[in-house]
Amino acid sequence: MPRKFFVGGNFKMNGTIESIKSIVHNLASAKLDPNTEVVISPPALYLLLTREHLPPNIEVAAQNVFDKPNGAFTGEISVSQLKDSNITWTILGHSERRTILNESDDFVAKKTKTALDGGIGVILCCGESLEQREKGTTVEVVTKQLAAVNDVIGKDGWKNVVIAYEPIWAIGTGKVATTEQAQEVHAAIRKWLGDAVSSEAAENTRIIYGGSVSEKNCKDLSTQPDVDGFLVGGASLKPAFVDIINAKH
Ligand code: PGA
Repeated sequence: MPRKFFVGGNFKMNGTIESIKSIVHNLASAKLDPNTEVVISPPALYLLLTREHLPPNIEVAAQNVFDKPNGAFTGEISVSQLKDSNITWTILGHSERRTILNESDDFVAKKTKTALDGGIGVILCCGESLEQREKGTTVEVVTKQLAAVNDVIGKDGWKNVVIAYEPIWAIGTGKVATTEQAQEVHAAIRKWLGDAVSSEAAENTRIIYGGSVSEKNCKDLSTQPDVDGFLVGGASLKPAFVDIINAKH
């Protein structure tokens, strides 16, 4: 079976009740490619509002979740609370959390395991800095981040994971990876899945690209054999997000 194209919208710490209602209204009334899975990720405060106003064919993702069950963890949100609110995905390991909040590979791995065990899908981000790319260590960096997750989730865990390759130097900078750069790393990740996990995981796991995706560059990127969709930041807040969702058409 071909991998279903997947487009996520990561609103990050942006939006208000009014602006998010308007984005959701736009999406709900747009003609979206039925062959693309669409997942929207607003700030935690607006998850319920977003869920309430979206049609059921569009799913909602948290931007983070904690690795412990409910309890004395001030400021955190649990997997069971996401489930209870019909939030079916979470982003984990975004480079902004890895760098600004010092999240380690192991912590990201633990949270991935907790989310998957609780029945939540994970959009797992990985990616290298400009310095790492210039040193030629991109694939090493990315596969190390993924290996930490593989160590705890095991072979079957990958069924509910979408890998988002997001080179840090391309996030929010307008500097998109070229189609060749994206395809090269995606192919290396798929090879790693085949070697370290299983041939099924290599065949079935969606690997999406993130970093300055726009309505202008999405079509070219989407033609690459190992690019199975996008994780979109800035452009997901704009009406042109619909064109990115429909990139394959
Ligand atoms: P960007 O962000 O599209 O604004 O570069 C992507 C992301 O961080 O997920």
